[in-house]
Amino acid sequence: MHKYLPIALFALSPILGAAAETENDRWNLADLYAATDAWNADSVKLEGQLKEFSGCNGKLGESVKRFKSCMDLNADIMKRYTRLASYASQTHDQDTSANIGQDLSQKSDILGSKVDQATSFLRPEVLGLGPAKVSRFLKQDKSLGIYRHPLDRILRAAPHTLDAEGEDIVAQFGLATGAAGSVYTMLSNADLPWPTVTLSDGTEVKIDQAAYTKYRAAANREDRKKVFDAFWGKWKEFERTFGVTFYEQLKKESVYTKVRHYPDSLSRALDGDKLPPAVYNMLIEQTRANLPTLHRYFKLRAKMLGVSEMHYYDMYPPLVTSSLKYPVEEGKQFMLSAVKPLGPDYVAAMAEGLRHRWMDVYPRPHKLSGAYMNGVAYDVHPYLLLNYNDDYESVSTLAHEWGHAMHSYLANRNQPFVTADYPTFTAEIASTSNETLLLDHMLKIAKTDDERMLYLGSALENLRTTFFRQAMFADFEREVHAKVDRGESLTGTDITKIYGDILRRYHGDKEGVVKIDDLYTMEWAYIPHFYNQFYVFQYATSIAAGSMFAAEILKGAPGARDRYLNILRSGGSAYPYELVKAAGVDLASPAPYQAVFARMNGIMDEIEAIRARRNN
Ligand SMILES: [Zn+2]
Repeated sequence: MHKYLPIALFALSPILGAAAETENDRWNLADLYAATDAWNADSVKLEGQLKEFSGCNGKLGESVKRFKSCMDLNADIMKRYTRLASYASQTHDQDTSANIGQDLSQKSDILGSKVDQATSFLRPEVLGLGPAKVSRFLKQDKSLGIYRHPLDRILRAAPHTLDAEGEDIVAQFGLATGAAGSVYTMLSNADLPWPTVTLSDGTEVKIDQAAYTKYRAAANREDRKKVFDAFWGKWKEFERTFGVTFYEQLKKESVYTKVRHYPDSLSRALDGDKLPPAVYNMLIEQTRANLPTLHRYFKLRAKMLGVSEMHYYDMYPPLVTSSLKYPVEEGKQFMLSAVKPLGPDYVAAMAEGLRHRWMDVYPRPHKLSGAYMNGVAYDVHPYLLLNYNDDYESVSTLAHEWGHAMHSYLANRNQPFVTADYPTFTAEIASTSNETLLLDHMLKIAKTDDERMLYLGSALENLRTTFFRQAMFADFEREVHAKVDRGESLTGTDITKIYGDILRRYHGDKEGVVKIDDLYTMEWAYIPHFYNQFYVFQYATSIAAGSMFAAEILKGAPGARDRYLNILRSGGSAYPYELVKAAGVDLASPAPYQAVFARMNGIMDEIEAIRARRNN
């Protein structure tokens, strides 16, 4: 994961006591602030800067000198605030039950809204200056050059910005447009009356969201069917209500699209990062055309699970179970060896980070679950939170998160603060490239076929969930948003029908690949990301780009490594689609998607070769 993305790609179960924790396995938050006193002192300093910044209100265009001092002050405010916020959230995450973390987090939230309020005039005022005056300032003072891209991001919103009265109305209505998302979150997390099932061994389990994630992977087929039926049956009872909340959400986005003068909701969502809709459409077109690759995986899965007719509830049991252990010190060595193709400087910097307590390694009671990397503390270093479990998935997650960490490290070293932070569109390239390099390395050093099967099975399932599943969600989002943009109405039943058709198409229901029972087409209601429109497709495009870069680097294609590392070093200094394209990967063309399908087919070739060797 990059930072705090809520998507659960790596569900690590918190098994305690995987290894004895030492100080070296805990991150060193003292690199941010020696103690809470220092944090408090810095937050007082921030409040002083916010007061000072209010003097810039209405004065940005006064002179180039004033413009420069205000831009610099704004940058320093943001840099200070992200450091304060990092310390607060990480203090909280390492022990969510501790008062100190809760207290700092609340203080940090309050600071955050003060920062928002105090700096909210900046965007409209820059827009008011207009491109001619801004570019005159840029010519007059060369040191303003670092702001060229951030200013361009603001200025290009001009055609979608209203007059002062219009913007005020939009802002006022902003307070009243969150109902659909809030009701959805409340109902799906807290209020849904979860069903209880009795499993084959006699245990009674309440199938809430967490239990569903665990028991859908049950080895006993009757058990997982029972879990699916109970879970999706409950969502089905609320189909009407979920239909209303989702339709309201879609209508809200459609209204903003019209008010902001965009042709459709997709274009509006992509415009912030200047992503061409051609990227989105190419992802879906290529995925649809290559569904036989996904179907090949399902047929292989059916064989490996030993089921004659694959159903949707056969999707989650692991392909390969293994008792192999990967202590973290070994995991680190595997990762360092795997990234050698990225060059000695990259390896040395990673080794340095591993020695200096950037990472909180093991699960503990009250520690936040999952894994993330936080690289926003510009003058310090990236931090990583893991829940390392000594299994192979943990090694893979380690490599993934360190891919993010090295991205932030390189961007922070090579960019000024204002262009260091990078968008999601490039973020997952750095992490998935490292996963690919890890797989390549592990396959090279594997001693047994059992081991090889474990790595291949993990990589294959990863490609299903992070590429194909996200592309399927993207396909669905495009269709429902387009309908509502055209003024069509949607009920829960309509949405289930649309989602069901796409789900069946992707899983080859008609071709007899995976049978999708009607009840499970309620799945759309379960996906919270649909309330964050047109977002998840970036996982799929990132993996496509990452697959292509990793393949070229491993082949030793001339210049491939430097072109790739240049994306990481560039941080957020250019529009992400253009940055990736300049490095030789055009995500509006078929090539990177073809690289994913080639990779997936290559993995299946190897699995089938091993199965043939074993004669099963
Ligand atoms: Zn990630």
